[in-house]
Amino acid sequence: MEPIVGIDLGTTNSEVAFIIDGNAEILKDRDDGILPSCVGIDDDGKIIVGAEARNQAVIAPDSTVLSVKRLMGTDQKIHMKDSSYLPQEISAFILKELKERAEKALGKPISKAIITAPAYFTDAQRHATREAGEIAGLNVVRIINEPTAAALAYESASSETQRILIYDLGGGTFDVSIVKIEEGVVEVLSSTGDNHLGGDDFDQKIVARLAEYVEKELKLSVTKQPLVMARLKRAAEKAKMTLSGSPYSKIEEDHIGKKTWKDIHLSYELSRLDFEEMIEDELERTMDSVSKALRDASLLPSAINKIILVGGSTRIPRISEMLEEKFGRLPHSEIDPDLCVALGAAIQAGREMGLDSTSVLLDITPYTFGTSAIGEVDGAPCMTRFVPLIRRNTKLPTAKSEAFYTLYDSQEAVEIKVCQGEKPDALDNIRIGKYKFKLSPRSPEGSVIVLNFDLDLNGILKIEAIEKASGRKINAVIENAFSTFTDQEMFDSKKRINALWGEKAESDEGAAADETPKETMPPDLAEALAKAESQLDSASGEDRDEMVNLMEDIRDAVADSRVDDARELLKELEEILFYLG
Ligand code: AMP
Repeated sequence: MEPIVGIDLGTTNSEVAFIIDGNAEILKDRDDGILPSCVGIDDDGKIIVGAEARNQAVIAPDSTVLSVKRLMGTDQKIHMKDSSYLPQEISAFILKELKERAEKALGKPISKAIITAPAYFTDAQRHATREAGEIAGLNVVRIINEPTAAALAYESASSETQRILIYDLGGGTFDVSIVKIEEGVVEVLSSTGDNHLGGDDFDQKIVARLAEYVEKELKLSVTKQPLVMARLKRAAEKAKMTLSGSPYSKIEEDHIGKKTWKDIHLSYELSRLDFEEMIEDELERTMDSVSKALRDASLLPSAINKIILVGGSTRIPRISEMLEEKFGRLPHSEIDPDLCVALGAAIQAGREMGLDSTSVLLDITPYTFGTSAIGEVDGAPCMTRFVPLIRRNTKLPTAKSEAFYTLYDSQEAVEIKVCQGEKPDALDNIRIGKYKFKLSPRSPEGSVIVLNFDLDLNGILKIEAIEKASGRKINAVIENAFSTFTDQEMFDSKKRINALWGEKAESDEGAAADETPKETMPPDLAEALAKAESQLDSASGEDRDEMVNLMEDIRDAVADSRVDDARELLKELEEILFYLG
């Protein structure tokens, strides 16, 4: 059978994948497999694609094309140096590069591909994608929707009917889709989003903050200097990525200008909290789209079986938190969010080649690792609140840091407990380490301690605690964080953890994260909601939408302890039910 590759032709980055020994794999070319979707012409008049083209974008904007995907399906001419091209011709250069890297990796010619496209792509846009493939010498066997590919990457083997929400936030676009997967067939139920929202906007927010700081504090104007601004943009993106794993990021850029013959250097510390505040409005907008996608599919959050994160920007921890707040369950990101769509396209390609049982190989942590701190559990103060640092199902290796604060002036030491488990109170989880960290004398209340966990594929958990002000630190290693017990202890612990997690069986680990949210719903309201839910199918059009909205509002009101509001809303819902009856 002739080989068929799966291709994610993205706005910011593109990848190619193939089934090798039953598993979907990204094909790499001495890199991480991520090809920037950039095309350019270099000084010698040669076409360049990928990182090389992206690197020249600032110094040679007239010879470089970025984000061509936005123009697919239009007949807008794109100028590069002295020539002009159609969008599908520029995309063809990217596809040619991917085809070549696939041929190199697999050692055989490739002439067939499955290419992904956003669910909202029109016929004209899909046609242009197909043409791009043809120009590149690829027979496009099929174009599949990006959310469909993501769902296949996670669920190709599942036989149960599932409704999956795919939250896809990349460099320049945001899409949210709800798909139904039934016996391996994926149907898109709704899809919405924002064509101009993504990681680039977050970088720009940091750049604006840096430019303001440079202008005010260093008395240097940089906004009209493209090269300095490009350096700030690169530094901003790097800092943004660091903040996904650490509570602080230091931005250091030397020689950003001169003032009275003196070199000016930039040194600025950005905290994750600050960054989250900067992008709060944008993230709220994405959550509005999530609500819209649910409304369009006439579904309540509780009807979603799984949430999948796609796109590099979903590594920002606040996004998982917001989705967990709305759905009461953790989203899945164990398949690399940058690669998930290409891997799903390869699984579909495998099916076209007659390979049935294909999947994605995963190296993930089976348990959550965290520490104990003062906080709240279920709204009540708790001296031993469990603070997860590395969540269950996180892809390995991984490193995560979190900031903690001292309680009073001249605190002499902190006790660092390392726990494994899923319960909100650390006492209910398993303690696998305890360390005392002596602090500097006379440190004030609220002094910051940064705790860093680094977990590798072999279960070696490295722990580092740093007193931020002084830089003093302690290190510890737990040699086998997955099995620090004897076989019997391991068996007992797993049983206990799984029981605490409310899990059916050890073998069912993949599905276990999909615990349904617990609600403290008063019985009369729960009964009314169940009745309304059973009548949803008999309602049509506007009534159904109105019912779904009211039911969601009632649940939100109860979750916020506004039971009186919930009862008021219930009256409206009962009116519709009465009318339906
Ligand atoms: P994509 O379009 O899916 O390839 O995503 C690219 C975007 O993801 C860019 O804006 C990156 O800066 C962003 N990104 C990649 N890694 C991270 C990270 N660790 N934290 C936050 N954003 C990231």
